Amino acid sequence: MSTTSSATIPVEHADAVVVGAGPAGSAAATFLAQAGRDVVLLEKEAFPRDKVCGDGLTPRAVKALRTLGMADEAEGRVPGWSRQDGLRMYGAGRVLDLPWPALDDWPEHSVTATRALFDHALARNAAKAGANLWEETEVTSPLWLTSSQRRIAGVSYRRSDGALGELRAPLVVVADGGSSRLAVSMGLLRNEKRPMGVAIRTYYRSPRADTGMMEGFLELHRGSELLPGYGWVFPLDDGLVNVGWGLLNTSAHFRSTNYRKTLDQWVSGFPAEWGMTADTRVGKPRSAGLPMGHNRKPACYKGALFVGDAAGMVNPFNGEGISYAIEAAAFAAEAGDRALARRSDEPLAGYEQAVAQAWGGYYTLGRLFVHIIGHPAVMRFCVEHGMPRRRLMTFVFRLMGHLIDRRPKDATDVVVNALSRVVPVA
Ligand SMILES: Cc1cc2nc3c(=O)[nH]c(=O)nc-3n(C[C@H](O)[C@H](O)[C@H](O)COP(=O)(O)OP(=O)(O)OC[C@H]3O[C@@H](n4cnc5c(N)ncnc54)[C@H](O)[C@@H]3O)c2cc1C
Repeated sequence: MSTTSSATIPVEHADAVVVGAGPAGSAAATFLAQAGRDVVLLEKEAFPRDKVCGDGLTPRAVKALRTLGMADEAEGRVPGWSRQDGLRMYGAGRVLDLPWPALDDWPEHSVTATRALFDHALARNAAKAGANLWEETEVTSPLWLTSSQRRIAGVSYRRSDGALGELRAPLVVVADGGSSRLAVSMGLLRNEKRPMGVAIRTYYRSPRADTGMMEGFLELHRGSELLPGYGWVFPLDDGLVNVGWGLLNTSAHFRSTNYRKTLDQWVSGFPAEWGMTADTRVGKPRSAGLPMGHNRKPACYKGALFVGDAAGMVNPFNGEGISYAIEAAAFAAEAGDRALARRSDEPLAGYEQAVAQAWGGYYTLGRLFVHIIGHPAVMRFCVEHGMPRRRLMTFVFRLMGHLIDRRPKDATDVVVNALSRVVPVA
């Protein structure tokens, strides 16, 4: 990194600037630093910091963690991390244990960790790889190559002590989350027609922390009405559970539902021995949006690469965003590194192609799914007819978790791969 001076504020130079140190940004910074690039990772908060999330890391995310070199965390071998063998589903008066499938391409377990711990670990991992992590540094606006504002050339920032600065870099990765103020200031808005979720979560001290299973709930009610959403209880280390539920914007209830009240009502119906009461609750419930199905496109815009929630990369089937953020970060780093080597923007287009190839068709299926499932009657039908059929639920489980082998081993692989190929990419 080099520094030059302007009349009033310092101007620094790097190969790459990454905006936001959530999973997407920390992963992109790690991969770029590993490629030998001089990279600065800017984060407006100081770690450890809270983030509203279910804290669930499916086998897909476990694999993503391994690619970052976080092998111990991926196995749940580090204090604060917990490991599970599968998903316990509740619905239609039944309970179904579905072990994570044994596949060639994906691990056979999940892990959980609070986002305070998880995001801090990822940011530290980026710094260990050689990235310069600047905490408490908020990006305020893009810097442009020319006055035509066609090509980004860096960012302006403000530190928490009020100091201002500019960071110039030929490669800019934007990973500032779902509301992506940087995207908005560059003129890249969300596509309102694409799916969006809202979810709320809180923590309890509960014996459910010891189940060794993630738990999913397909029946949530508002009064006597079935809501087209789903709930979860995810066990964490140290006797804590993350409890939450979410709803899709394809549902008529999306804007009219009191998320907090519904959470309280739902939790109050849990068996007494689960121990989830006002006394065992830890912290206040908090909600946030889940930008799904590539709801901000294109992911390569005016020379910047948009990664994770900033590009709306949450899986519409299940609300999982962390694995996709890390996978996309790897594609972005690869394309960015090639562009830097060639001193040309042309390789940047490879980023979008890689994402489209990896899950473009699958996300199109996901968008269809959320439209269908947004109707309570359809949801009721699926739960009532699905839950008694283990084979069907195993298929749904693997489809929703995107746990499919690239080289088909069984009918689920064949069907999902074939369907993903025949639809246009999202
Ligand atoms: C209730 C809920 C439950 C969820 N549960 C799960 C789950 O169990 N598993 C899962 O995989 N996904 C889950 N998700 C989705 C998941 O949280 C996101 O997909 C994931 O956090 C995306 O990572 P990201 O790095 O793209 O964005 P973020 O995690 O939002 O990170 C963005 C970072 O950028 C920083 N930032 C923002 N603006 C600036 C700025 N101007 N300058 C500098 N820094 C900035 C922020 O402080 C933040 O650190 C859930 C989401 C919600 C709302």
